[in-house]
Amino acid sequence: MTALTEHDAIVEITPSAGVQVARHGWRAKCLQRLVRMNLPVPTSFAISSDAVRAIAAGQMLDRSRLAAIIERAEGLVSVRPSAANPAWGGPGTVLNVGINDACHARLVETRGKAAADALYLGFVQSYAIHVARLDPDMFSDSGGDLGVALRAYEAETDEEFPQDPTRQLAEVLRSMARAWDGPTARLLRQAKGAPPVAPLGLIVQDMALAIGPGVTGSGSIQLIDSMTGMPRITGRFRGQMQGRAKGQGAETLYLTRDPRGPSLEEAAPEVFADLVRYGVAARERLREEMQVEFVVSDSKLAIIDAVRVPRSSRAGVRIAVALARDGVIPAEEAVMRIEPRALSDLLHYQVDPNAPRDLIAKGINASPGAATGQIVFTAAAAQAAEARGERSVLIRRETVPEDIRGMHAAVAVLTERGGMTSHAAVIARGIGLPCIVGASGISIDLRARTMQADGRTFHEGELITIDGTSGEVLAGEAEMLEPALDDSFNQLLEWADELCRIRIRANADTPEDARTARMFNAQGIGLCRTEHMFFDDERLPAMREMIFAEHPEDRRLSLERLLPMQRGDFIKLFEIMAGLPVTIRLFDPPLHEFLPHDREGMRELAESLDLPLSDVTRRVEALSEFNPMLGMRGVRLGITVPEIYDMQARAIFEATIQASHNGAPVVPEIMIPLVSARREVELVKTRIDAVAAAVRNETRKDFTYRLGVMVETPRAALRAGEIAEHSSFLSFGTNDLTQMTYGLSRDDAGRFMGTYVGQGVYADDPFHILDQDGVGELVAIGTERARAQSPGITISVCGEHGGNPESIAFCLRAGVNYVSCSPFRVPVARLAAAQESI
Ligand code: PEP
Ligand code: MG
Repeated sequence: MTALTEHDAIVEITPSAGVQVARHGWRAKCLQRLVRMNLPVPTSFAISSDAVRAIAAGQMLDRSRLAAIIERAEGLVSVRPSAANPAWGGPGTVLNVGINDACHARLVETRGKAAADALYLGFVQSYAIHVARLDPDMFSDSGGDLGVALRAYEAETDEEFPQDPTRQLAEVLRSMARAWDGPTARLLRQAKGAPPVAPLGLIVQDMALAIGPGVTGSGSIQLIDSMTGMPRITGRFRGQMQGRAKGQGAETLYLTRDPRGPSLEEAAPEVFADLVRYGVAARERLREEMQVEFVVSDSKLAIIDAVRVPRSSRAGVRIAVALARDGVIPAEEAVMRIEPRALSDLLHYQVDPNAPRDLIAKGINASPGAATGQIVFTAAAAQAAEARGERSVLIRRETVPEDIRGMHAAVAVLTERGGMTSHAAVIARGIGLPCIVGASGISIDLRARTMQADGRTFHEGELITIDGTSGEVLAGEAEMLEPALDDSFNQLLEWADELCRIRIRANADTPEDARTARMFNAQGIGLCRTEHMFFDDERLPAMREMIFAEHPEDRRLSLERLLPMQRGDFIKLFEIMAGLPVTIRLFDPPLHEFLPHDREGMRELAESLDLPLSDVTRRVEALSEFNPMLGMRGVRLGITVPEIYDMQARAIFEATIQASHNGAPVVPEIMIPLVSARREVELVKTRIDAVAAAVRNETRKDFTYRLGVMVETPRAALRAGEIAEHSSFLSFGTNDLTQMTYGLSRDDAGRFMGTYVGQGVYADDPFHILDQDGVGELVAIGTERARAQSPGITISVCGEHGGNPESIAFCLRAGVNYVSCSPFRVPVARLAAAQESI
């Protein structure tokens, strides 16, 4: 193999050497940058990844070159891994390569016996474990005694501890090259996104000894707090310590002056001042907050390594924004540096990642954030807990629309069944409630008011914690971090908006949602699911009367009772949105969702409607369907029972007139759900136009509105051209579109989704990340056909995918004008869309 020519295989890291990340790894490149800054970096050499691969395959580096490297000065070097990406890790660093009896004797002279012994012993142990592959336990009896350790080595290997420094170095290089090729290392780095054949470079660096006379030791420093991202000098200085080796008088010092004990700042003020100066310079030159590794040898400072400061999500945002504000990086780069998903950590309470977790079950992380509360099993119990001022976690097999009030009253929701777009998941995301669905490991006993999980029994009233970010259910109360919607967060999103090529709206059903949407700077409401407005105590009876009406006249009377309430809802939404577009979807779910499902409920209903119980039961049965998601819902209901849409249209128009009179002019957008044929649109449009004409006549006020269609069935996507003829806009409802394209129930898929994704049948849960190949193709086809018919038509996506970064990227490429997602996902969507626009 030619890669092992001296010139190619090893380069000294000088300011002008040809060091590249792809060939020598990130650490080599970072060291070169530090060298270029004139920092006191010990002489370092980079071994290329080609050479490392050849070494693993059994070839040797040129011995005289290795000898030349190691036989200088004190003759000791360290070897560190340098992968192309720091996240991929690498074999552990080996220190003090080259130490032998002769060197030890010299070190006894210069640093004392204790220091010399500690350094030699440290190397003997590393060498035995990593190179000779001996059991680490063999040193447990050595009691830190060098002689005992050397004899143990000889006894195990039947040879003297190698004295030739060049051989030691060659062996260490070989063992590290091979370790990188091992199956465990491979799996670990692949889990962090590394390709199967990932390159590894190695760094050989002159040792700066951290054990010896005077102020001597090793440490690390950073100028930023990893948790908060605020300026704060943190780190440690370990006097008389190097790796695992400890010299006499070893002790850990604070970096800065501290009343609790001695500090490096006091022990070696100049060294400390230099460190701070280097940290500031590194931030500017490397355009990043760096954690600097250093060694002090008798008050002489050496910078041996630097890595990006590890950081929490909130610190990540603060650091990026501060770098851009200081002119170190452009704003665009700050926007690119933050993983959009990380923003959702900032919006909600989070379980402290460093706190202990008593994990009892796992499910689908349906809505982020964390909360602790008492277990309750019914919506009524959640409401009762709220009335007592107590926090509750609502646990259900799955939620139904009647649970909404209970969900509002609870601090988190956990369901045994369901997937990413099940009722619980959609509502929880909408109101920013931590939620886990499809936790099939729990089992609920409603009668006993207990939940089984992890082989344990939990009773109503016991505390549990829902971590909706990770999908983990924890027993008891967990330590939490607070949300961080600070100035840096807002600044980052402001920059994002300037760069964004599409708009981001929110799915908002209530005034509260609308306020949240505004708080997160949504550019309108892309979906108001009006059915959610019918579940409060006042409306549900009117709704039920309407459903039970035998004659159109009776139905009209119940709808008249609902009209002012709906009008009031819309006025509030329009006022909060202050002239921003508001898309209102006409009634969508099957009617029977509004009816009680148990005998008790039916009895109550019969009483309130003054009907015999048998009539109520019969009517409920008559309304029930085998397959309600594919039954009498959406536009089908609108055409069969047109009075409902008439009432809604009237409420929208009357609200438009009133809100426009009070504030910014409103142009409402009315959206028809579950369309699959052009004729459906024509029929609904005719009636809505007629209602508009009637309202204009009655009020003598003019207004405009836009009528659009939800594309939620594969047929609607395929026939988007003709559907577009009658529509001002099309909005892809990718929840139903996914359900129908796959023939996959959005409420039941949770049961097997884990297995399906685990076995690679689906790459991801398609209700979570848009399936670009299938559902995505329908979106692309629909968009293209609609635009061919009406080039100016507005196209959007309002399914849950609208808040998922990967899906947003796809939507942008498909040419949609905006995406609409749950209010709490708006910040993530703004950032993801901006990154995709750059
Ligand atoms: C959809 O189907 O994608 C949608 C937004 O409507 P819903 O989730 O209310 O069915
Ligand atoms: Mg839908």
